[in-house]
Amino acid sequence: MHEESPLRLCFVLRYQYKQVNVRMLVLEAKLRGEERQYQALDEALRTSRFVRNMCLRYWMDNRGLNKYDLNKYCSVLAKEFEFAKLLNSTARQASAERAWSSISRFFDNCRKGEPGKKGYPKFRKHQTNLSVEYKASGWKLSDDRQTITFTDGFEAGSFRMWGTRDLHFYQIEQIKRVRVVRRADGYYIQFCVDVERRENHEYQNRVLGIDVGLNHFYTDSDGNIVENPRYLRKKERSLKRTQRRLSRKKKGSKNRVKARNKVGRKHLKVSRQRKDFAVKTARCVVQSSDLVAYEDLKVRNMVKNHHLAKSISDASWSQFREWLEYFGKVFGVGTIAVPPHYTSQNCSSCGTTVKKSLSTRTHTCKCGCVLDRDHNAALNILRIGLSTVGHTGTQDASGDIDLCTGEETPPGKSSRRKRKSSK
Ligand SMILES: [Zn+2]
Repeated sequence: MHEESPLRLCFVLRYQYKQVNVRMLVLEAKLRGEERQYQALDEALRTSRFVRNMCLRYWMDNRGLNKYDLNKYCSVLAKEFEFAKLLNSTARQASAERAWSSISRFFDNCRKGEPGKKGYPKFRKHQTNLSVEYKASGWKLSDDRQTITFTDGFEAGSFRMWGTRDLHFYQIEQIKRVRVVRRADGYYIQFCVDVERRENHEYQNRVLGIDVGLNHFYTDSDGNIVENPRYLRKKERSLKRTQRRLSRKKKGSKNRVKARNKVGRKHLKVSRQRKDFAVKTARCVVQSSDLVAYEDLKVRNMVKNHHLAKSISDASWSQFREWLEYFGKVFGVGTIAVPPHYTSQNCSSCGTTVKKSLSTRTHTCKCGCVLDRDHNAALNILRIGLSTVGHTGTQDASGDIDLCTGEETPPGKSSRRKRKSSK
């Protein structure tokens, strides 16, 4: 089989990737203030959710509206509701944009025509994982950048920030958005900084195919194995216990709120560990190779199988993949998603199909090729990746802001999944 030399391909890819800018960097800090201030923040958070939900309602009642209609509707809301007026106008706009992004995601899913749920936009109800986003106004940083003051109608006042050392490196004009996020263990502030993020990549003379799996987190085409951390499994028993405790508490009682918070904190811990693992592993993979190929798996469809569901969502492949693609852009390393067909069945050295069941762990071919099943698959993935260069699996740079928010949502997502599977 004649193949193009990987070296040349890398050059081509590198050239393509030069044109992709990774422009958003998110810095996060914890907010420290008094109880009264937190309550004011809560009101801002709830109002933001209210605006988002009202925009969604407005869209449902009047079909054919576009993004700008929703933006205009914000000022109608501000006139109609006292508390909506208190929220900074850019924050109101951001809430409308958020409503629009869930609407357009739904449209996109419909247009793609793939099987499965289309994700019709839903109203947000939950108290946890609320957030509100400001643009250029509604907030002010102190000169030493240790304190942030909110200046809109809710009068939340000034908060000390924990963990903002990095903020000193950037100009105020570079901060495009400021987001307040409420989590189970407190209030956080995120600064979305507009900065071109590009890091030097040393040429490694190595191309890599990776096969993600349940037995190992992934196996690469060089035969290296990275184990699965299975954080959630480890935590599962203690999570179940706290969840049982929560279900015994009376609805609407203070104790129930406390118990729910405990469950939230545990989920938060798991999601932080997960993210940390995904980021570190992805960074390491990208830095050590010049091209990375992986399967274009539709995890959402696979999670339907309940036995596999927990392990798959625990392994958090999709998060890993997002970070792979992100670092690919940062380091100028090509990332390719290949169609996931026959990668484990075909022989990586001669190409014949060697049928095997899920339990067969070794690939043994007549041509004399004996390999670990996943190693064989990784080699196939790499081969397909090298022959399909051009159809890269990366999204455009605008997806980065989504990645930033995306990394913050897992606690909500996993708890939702959890509830569904326990039915
Ligand atoms: Zn063979």
